[in-house]
Amino acid sequence: MPHTLRVTPDDRRRHLQLVSPAIHEETFSWSWFCGHCAAPPVRAVPAPHQQRVCESCGVGLMQQAPADAAPVPNEAFVIVDSSLSVQSMSPAAEQLLAVSGDDAVERRVTDLLVPADAEAQGPAGLAAAITQSAGGATTTTGVFVRPGATFGVRLRAQVGPCGPPRAALIVFR
Ligand SMILES: [Zn+2]
Repeated sequence: MPHTLRVTPDDRRRHLQLVSPAIHEETFSWSWFCGHCAAPPVRAVPAPHQQRVCESCGVGLMQQAPADAAPVPNEAFVIVDSSLSVQSMSPAAEQLLAVSGDDAVERRVTDLLVPADAEAQGPAGLAAAITQSAGGATTTTGVFVRPGATFGVRLRAQVGPCGPPRAALIVFR
């Protein structure tokens, strides 16, 4: 007797339930900002890829982040890639963390920042939030951190997505 695959009404119903819901359009808007000084683009139209260097400071590359997470000028922030490597930081972050951007870039962010409440959020809290954001999650996570070399300083950090290329944006606010 040949093997037949018959779809019963039960199977069909089960199959329909397994169909994943449509991916929701992202309803929030993204803002451009400079990855060094946080200045918005000089021109209203986003700069094409070959013109991504900030026209305000001439140092940073233009990045996008959800509008409510994007930093504003003079805010302390760090951009970290999915391997936890620091890509850029604002002058305010250099001051806050007592490092120069030149020394910090390409270092692991965990050398500069450690979770402040290891018991409360688990040792991987900061790294997990960065990995999620750099990996495509569009939500923003709040974590408490402290500068790696300093005790008694506790900072509230907001970790969210930015790019291109896809990375995590850590804003201290
Ligand atoms: Zn800039």
